[in-house]
Amino acid sequence: MPDQTLPKTYNFKATEERIYKWWLNNGYFKPVNDPNNADFDPEVKPFVISIPPPNVTGELHLGHAMFVAMEDLMIRYHRMKGVPTLWVPGSDHAGIATQLQVEKSLAKEGLTREEIGREEFLKRTWAWKEKYGGIITDQVKRLGASCDWDRERFTLDEGLSIAVREAFVRLYQKGLIYRGPRLINWSPGLKTAVSDLEVEYAEEPGKLYYFKYRFVDSEEEFIPVATTRPETILGDTAVAVHPEDDRYKGYIGRKVLVPVLDRQIPVIGDDYVDLEFGTGALKITPGHDPNDYDIGQRHGLQVISVLDESARINAYGGPYAGQDRFEAREILWQDMQKAGLVIKEEPYTLKVPRSQRGGEIIEPMVSTQWFVKIQPLAEAALAAVKDDKIQIVPERFTKVYYNWLENIQDWCISRQLWWGHRIPVWYCAECDQMTISRQDPTACAHCGSKNIHQDPDVLDTWFSSGLWPFSTLGWPESTPDYEYFYPTTMMETGYDILFFWVARMIMFGLEFTGDIPFDTVYLHGLIRDGNGRKMSKTYGNVIDPLEVMNDFGTDALRFTLLVGSTPGNDMNLSIERVEANRNFANKIWNAGRFVISNINISPVKPLAEPDWTLADSWIWARLQSLIKDVERLFQNYQYGEAGRQIYDFFWSEFADWYLEVAKLQLAEGGDRAFYTIQTLSRVLDLCLRLLHPFTPFVTEELWGHLKLASQDHSDHLTPPGGWPEALILAQWPESRSEEGWETEKVAHFNIIREVVRAIRNIRAEKNVQPGRRIPATLVSADYSEILMEQSTSLSALAHLDHNQLTILDSIQKKPAGNIALVVGPVEIYLPLMGLIDVDEERSRLEKDLSDTNAQIERLEQLLASPFTDKAPQAVVQKERDKLRDYEDTAKRLKKQLEDFG
Ligand SMILES: [Zn+2]
Repeated sequence: MPDQTLPKTYNFKATEERIYKWWLNNGYFKPVNDPNNADFDPEVKPFVISIPPPNVTGELHLGHAMFVAMEDLMIRYHRMKGVPTLWVPGSDHAGIATQLQVEKSLAKEGLTREEIGREEFLKRTWAWKEKYGGIITDQVKRLGASCDWDRERFTLDEGLSIAVREAFVRLYQKGLIYRGPRLINWSPGLKTAVSDLEVEYAEEPGKLYYFKYRFVDSEEEFIPVATTRPETILGDTAVAVHPEDDRYKGYIGRKVLVPVLDRQIPVIGDDYVDLEFGTGALKITPGHDPNDYDIGQRHGLQVISVLDESARINAYGGPYAGQDRFEAREILWQDMQKAGLVIKEEPYTLKVPRSQRGGEIIEPMVSTQWFVKIQPLAEAALAAVKDDKIQIVPERFTKVYYNWLENIQDWCISRQLWWGHRIPVWYCAECDQMTISRQDPTACAHCGSKNIHQDPDVLDTWFSSGLWPFSTLGWPESTPDYEYFYPTTMMETGYDILFFWVARMIMFGLEFTGDIPFDTVYLHGLIRDGNGRKMSKTYGNVIDPLEVMNDFGTDALRFTLLVGSTPGNDMNLSIERVEANRNFANKIWNAGRFVISNINISPVKPLAEPDWTLADSWIWARLQSLIKDVERLFQNYQYGEAGRQIYDFFWSEFADWYLEVAKLQLAEGGDRAFYTIQTLSRVLDLCLRLLHPFTPFVTEELWGHLKLASQDHSDHLTPPGGWPEALILAQWPESRSEEGWETEKVAHFNIIREVVRAIRNIRAEKNVQPGRRIPATLVSADYSEILMEQSTSLSALAHLDHNQLTILDSIQKKPAGNIALVVGPVEIYLPLMGLIDVDEERSRLEKDLSDTNAQIERLEQLLASPFTDKAPQAVVQKERDKLRDYEDTAKRLKKQLEDFG
């Protein structure tokens, strides 16, 4: 429940937690149309998002804050539109990350996981998960996430484990999973295979080493070759040259000697070789380089792995066996120098593969692992996007997606870890066959022997998260949730995990459910610091979202993230911006407080039909046009721009202008006051609805006060459809078509605003005391009537002396000793000449004229450009109207300059 009294200032600390609990306890986060309830209607299409599951032992960072804010916005918007919404929360067991945490804490006790054994280690890891797993969940809640927490899932929970088993067994039975030796990324420190996607390439200084590959049959002849990793020479199985390279093509088919080891290897021809790079000849190490591995496969070359699990040289390295790879690099190179095989060394910038976890250098190695045969899955995933079954926003990422799937390699799914889904394969000691099973078997499926043991490895974390959109809804069971909520609607995530995760969910969704897992993929950008630099601990520029929420409130953080983002583009985030948006939350509060505190001092009901003022009509028309624009922007995923427009309307039009005029109108009392408060409360209500998905807390709290005050005071303040229970459930403002009067009213009020603004500016420029009321003469052929009608507002807003305000259709000679201003069709004369310098005044008019001419030129260029054909008619017309106004202004300014003589 909102607080009963209306505090003077907005206190987010006293509000956020209370409001969140209130939403949660009232079940507002649950889908209104629930397939598990009796009144369920299967015909209504729901809006469903599966949350990108954060690592269970992770801590909230800005990346989380971004997706939570964005998804919560989408969910709240659809919920307010009356669409049944479901946002499924959960967390990921995060194999390596979590296991490392637990190993670290073991190390503090002087223990290793091997010492305590698998069972005890898993027990401890579960305990760790119980203890720390809730932290990230609480942090997600703090951001205001309106997830259905009763449907929260964890990738290692029972249902999801069944799903993983099912997926593995199905792929295996279809021949899409196999075990075998292949080149993979090996983490020597963690002693496990790691995903291609968990390897980051860092540019680091290194060397390019040039040396000789001598021919077997001629001591004098050699092929010059260059490498960045000399120790891999020990595993070379060929030297490749380009078949059309005149320098070397004659050597193809001859044999050369591996330095020091003197192993004989062939010279082969392959188009892959780049004639320009290094010496134009390439040493081929299929056991330790992915490109060489492919070349090796094409030519049937032997694959020699010279490293052991810790990346020390193994027996294949002859005299170097037992040495660390970097030590062997030095010693081998010295030995080659002694043997006269070295040509030269030169500095070279390397792309060093480093582990995302811990940063150690990753070694490409051949290892026996489990793989998914990805080709057939990738083809289906490509087709789903090509056939427009899935839309990727922004569209330019579609190409990236195609490119990745077209070049995809088989996916290594086994990891030499303990924390995760254990591979459901049992090996038989009697007959050597494998038993692959949904349930743990007690005997070999082939010979019945009880002497079987399960594969010790676990599955890549992304295997289970690839099933996320449907495993969380009950698949492989055909549960009511799965039947109704699947396929889901929206997959919203950072573009950096388009491949990691999104592509895999699409592949698995199509394979296992026969359906796309979601219709739309929305990709947001990464968050950089205020200067556009990547946030990193090294730069010390990391912004902690929890600190930001403590200092400025959740709404300020959310609004900054949402308004700063455009689909697929990185955004810069600075504390100053969050602070400015905290001020916006306060502005909302203060404006709202003004409205609410005036409700009970206005009449309870009107005596006559409404007689709307120009300001009433203007603010209403502007609000309607805002609602229409926001709707269009939301439909096009331009959430940030929508937020900016709501902000501008609320601050610069509603609070700065309408509220000022409303004060005068309220002071009139009677029907005028009644209709003013009705307008104020309607506009505030609708603004709070529009802002709710962006800044849910301050809007809910304030709206609660608005509702209470209105209900207490008058039925006439009830919005159409009545007061809903809570803002979170309130109907989203519907855009309606114009009634015909709007354009004119908006134009007229804009003239008033321009006149007031011009007078305020000149007063400030001339240092006229703020309270001093000054006389004025306004001249306009077309608008004198409007000016007359608005003279009270004009006088109040511009601090004019109402008794000395003259409004005329035309004027023969400008009043002596007056400063002249031109605002579109209105000439303004202010008797401030005594205060000013004539030359200064002339140069001011000249400057105004040159500014106006610059605007004219800009608009002429714009209207002569393709913009005129491409932009909507109404937008073009608006620019044309602006041009006409500027031309008008220029004419008047010229005339005034002439008057100066
Ligand atoms: Zn057997």
